[in-house]
Amino acid sequence: MRDLYLLKIGGSVITDLSKPNTVASGPVTIGTLLEEAYEAYSSGGFDLIIGHGSGSFGHVAAAQYKVNEGLAYPNSKLGALITHMTAKQLNDIFISEGIRLEIPLYPFSPANFSLADNGELGAGFCDHIAGAVEKGFIPVVYGDVIMDKSKGVSIASTEKVLDFIAKEIKPKKVLYGSDTDGVFTANPKEHPDAKHIDVIDSANIGSALENTGVSNARVDVTGGMKTKLARLYETCKRTGAEGYIFNITRPGMLKAMLLGTANPEFYTLVKA
Ligand code: ADP
Repeated sequence: MRDLYLLKIGGSVITDLSKPNTVASGPVTIGTLLEEAYEAYSSGGFDLIIGHGSGSFGHVAAAQYKVNEGLAYPNSKLGALITHMTAKQLNDIFISEGIRLEIPLYPFSPANFSLADNGELGAGFCDHIAGAVEKGFIPVVYGDVIMDKSKGVSIASTEKVLDFIAKEIKPKKVLYGSDTDGVFTANPKEHPDAKHIDVIDSANIGSALENTGVSNARVDVTGGMKTKLARLYETCKRTGAEGYIFNITRPGMLKAMLLGTANPEFYTLVKA
């Protein structure tokens, strides 16, 4: 097998967070990102699994029905189902874009291949995903509502799903594409003087986590940058992968990241 890269495409990038269940109208869209990813993939240097966030699709229903609290309320089961189906709707749009662009994606729903225990993905099956990679497909997973042994149901964020896959199928790189040039000493949206952090390793992971948070403007039930960074560091520590948090909204950046030619000003390298 070639080197495997796991790519996360942020839900805030591909959806319009100000409108429930609406995809982003551009300039960066699912289609432009898929084109960039496929151009890099076609160079033949690596295998790829993509995970996309839910943005204004999953998060609105998840928050409305408090899906994170498990089966705690009379309408929790219906809320779990609605949230699952809403996340799937965005995945359908994502896959349809792949078909339009003649890119051999293949969807795998986390609800159907994994099981959580108190919010953590503990069990699951990835052989079919690894098999799809070997056959030349680009598997696509996403944040989903999955069955949970303790809570009934829980939200498996895209990062958790990729972390689970990483443990089963060891990647060389795990790349999180979001809308900032990596991680800063403070939220750059609120503190324009925040400094870019080039590398996060065991020496500065503690302070980096203290300085990351969630933008107040965001609808996000999966935790924002702090949770993302903590998860990526954990994934890298357990699997030996290199981690990257980069600005996927810059034209050409996704392709450059995958080819290893990106300008380091626009990403943070995570080495656990
Ligand atoms: P996505 O939906 O792309 O996965 P989120 O919106 O959940 O991403 O998280 C990315 C956001 O985290 C950024 O847009 C930024 O507002 C916020 N953030 C908070 N603290 C930081 C930080 N120290 N460095 C970078 N981004 C930060």
